[in-house]
Amino acid sequence: MRPHPVAPARSPEATEFARLRQILAYEERGGYRDRTVIGGLAPYARKLGERLRAAGAPAAALARAARVAAVLARYGELSPAARAEALAAARAALDAPLNGPSTTPLEQAPAPPVRPVRARRVEADFPAPDQPLTAIPGVGAQRARLLARLGLHTVGDLLRHFPLRHIEYPPPTRASELFFQPVGSFEGVVRRVDVQRTARGLQRTAVTLADATGEVEAVWLRAGYGLRFQPGQRLAVSGALTLLGRRLVFDNPDWEPADQGPLHTRGLVPVYPATKGLAQPWLRELVARAVDRWADAAADPLPAWLREAEGLPPRAAALRAIHFPTTREEAARARQRFAFDELLLMQLAIGLRRRAAEQVAGRALPTPVALLDAFRAALPFRLTAAQERVLAEIGHDLARSRPMTRLLQGEVGSGKTVIAAAAMLVAVAAGAQAALMAPTEILAEQHARTVRTLYERAADVLRAHLGRVPRVVLLTGRLSASERRQVRTAAATGHVDIVIGTQAVIQEGVAFRDLALAIADEQHRFGVRQRLALREKGACPHLLVMTATPIPRTLALTLYGDLDLSRLDELPPGRQPIRTVLLRPDERAHAYERLRREVAQGRQGYVICPLVEDSPHLEARAATEEYERLRHGALRGLRLGLLHGRLRSEEKEAVMAAFRDGALDVLVATAVVEVGVDVPNATMMIIEGAERFGLAQLHQFRGRVGRGEHPAICALIAQTTAAEALERLQIVAETSDGLALAEADLRLRGPGDYYGLRQSGLPTLQVASLGDLELIERTRAAATRLLEADPALARPEHAALARAVRDYLTQVGDPS
Ligand code: ADP
Ligand code: MG
Repeated sequence: MRPHPVAPARSPEATEFARLRQILAYEERGGYRDRTVIGGLAPYARKLGERLRAAGAPAAALARAARVAAVLARYGELSPAARAEALAAARAALDAPLNGPSTTPLEQAPAPPVRPVRARRVEADFPAPDQPLTAIPGVGAQRARLLARLGLHTVGDLLRHFPLRHIEYPPPTRASELFFQPVGSFEGVVRRVDVQRTARGLQRTAVTLADATGEVEAVWLRAGYGLRFQPGQRLAVSGALTLLGRRLVFDNPDWEPADQGPLHTRGLVPVYPATKGLAQPWLRELVARAVDRWADAAADPLPAWLREAEGLPPRAAALRAIHFPTTREEAARARQRFAFDELLLMQLAIGLRRRAAEQVAGRALPTPVALLDAFRAALPFRLTAAQERVLAEIGHDLARSRPMTRLLQGEVGSGKTVIAAAAMLVAVAAGAQAALMAPTEILAEQHARTVRTLYERAADVLRAHLGRVPRVVLLTGRLSASERRQVRTAAATGHVDIVIGTQAVIQEGVAFRDLALAIADEQHRFGVRQRLALREKGACPHLLVMTATPIPRTLALTLYGDLDLSRLDELPPGRQPIRTVLLRPDERAHAYERLRREVAQGRQGYVICPLVEDSPHLEARAATEEYERLRHGALRGLRLGLLHGRLRSEEKEAVMAAFRDGALDVLVATAVVEVGVDVPNATMMIIEGAERFGLAQLHQFRGRVGRGEHPAICALIAQTTAAEALERLQIVAETSDGLALAEADLRLRGPGDYYGLRQSGLPTLQVASLGDLELIERTRAAATRLLEADPALARPEHAALARAVRDYLTQVGDPS
């Protein structure tokens, strides 16, 4: 059989170029209306290159496609005449032979783009890093004031003034090769300068620049003084290109003498945080001079072995690269290096603080085994295995003669309150006092009620072991002056065993006779300072902080690095799953209908109003409006309550009490309900503006429902169509694991202030992100190794590091 004749397969580039030729012909015939291909010629040409690359076309074909795309880049924005011209240029580029000798210089393979390397200029007499900025000639009092606004005071500060980003300018192109691309660079000699004053009092400076292959124009508009250029001067420009008639013009480009730099043109140009009155080029120049002079002088805080182990560049190289990189990768590596430094210092500070804390003496509280057994037996439920484990961890800590500092993290509903109640019994059994502090009055009051109820149930066994049921008092800002005085006296004289309250507990004037255990609920509302204040209420009492915020372990160990960690990773049995659905605003009616059905069955629900960042006032107003709207509209006939942060505390209490007692069907609330509110009969939650909340926070919200015997539903209503936001919310709908959500949240949004960073006593990070769990983990391991080898960082090779840590601790205002 004769083989079937096979036509030589056409290469993908041949096919694509043939089709493009056809398209260009149609476009010409059609009168340059840019209707030939959907979306326009410019995107088509751009995508052509991508397709060829994907198809593995040879470099020459890719270069040709790139040239065509460049010529057509702004086709859609051009006048018909300019379109005709661009089209002709595209055809010329397309029809030049693909292989073989080029016919014109234009067709030569473009020289590989070379970025000129910046020449460093080290000024021997540049002022020292500790000198004020005014020591630099050219920096007067006024500019120093502006620089101070940026936090820049000394010469050394300039080195740490890292750029926000880099503008990427291409290497210079010859005039003949300068196609109509969005951004270009050019080096040439000034031929003509033309300065005009415009009608609005601006100076318009037009300069004609020439190289061996042709001429290019650059135009600047400036208020006040115009720019001064001299014919014969060699100039480099980088910036946006526009078409002025048929001429290609640099529009307000950055510039500098061609044989200087490149600092402002022809490469990666840093953009600094600036302030009104400080011009970017001036600031850039100043930073460059400081970096050139001093980058090499500072000692590297990272010992060489650590740098090598972590693959990090030395500090001097990193400093130069973070400001004036030659590639984006180099800049990224430099950033990573400084992020590492920043987190390492934080971890070392934590490690040192922790070591110091271990030296403090505390009071041992022996575990009252029989009492705890009897208390357990009197509970209306069996403790979960996780609760038992945590209780044992706490008991072990309390029995030691150094103060416990423990963070108990447990999902909403995991049963932290009963653990607090049991731990406080340990203190009371030792003849001492305990305090439990909550972030809001609602919660303090709820805790007091829960703890009293638990003790009442076990009244007989408590009397048998302690001689009495522990005396629990509530201390909130709501008490009258005389009531408060009474509570204070009782605490000071030992007439109460347990004080439960808000921050009022740690206010001045509250003294305990013998405080041995302090517990703070919802840790993320309490900072280091509050913790310290609480500590001062007793002779180094044991401290337990409880949080339902699912904090990834790595982050917890950083934010609360001086705490030991316990986790309640199990919910009590029989919990109802919460079904979460994501609704569009136009599906809201379904949610209301469902809520009505729940209420008809005797259940209750919440409507959560959108977050108004930094404005409790606007937030309260929005919630009030929503309440009115629902009351007269979709939820008419139901008993609605309103809860927001602007209500007085007794109003809040009254609303909560009514909701808890079933006198209200639906609570319209702001984020106030986020923490700890426990109404088991609530089975439905509608969250408006769900996209404004973090994933972990949404998870906290929905933990308010499904706390009883009935299955619960949570409807997230997004007031956005942004795909990204909807995907985020979809994660919440699909995941019931709080920790996984917290990690996703960190990756997507960074930590924000959700974890109480502002109160954490940690300084704000300049380069690093607490969302970067991997880097946190690396620096934590490095800090541990460093402190194990050299606990006081006293070795000579750690001298620079020790100094950096000392500076850091001063900055944090660390008391230890
Ligand atoms: P959270 O950890 O969110 O503070 P709570 O302490 O408020 O949780 O407990 C939530 C609910 O679970 C309460 O009604 C509590 O009585 C109940 N609970 C706690 N522990 C158990 C358990 N082991 N078995 C059954 N129910 C429990
Ligand atoms: Mg709780």
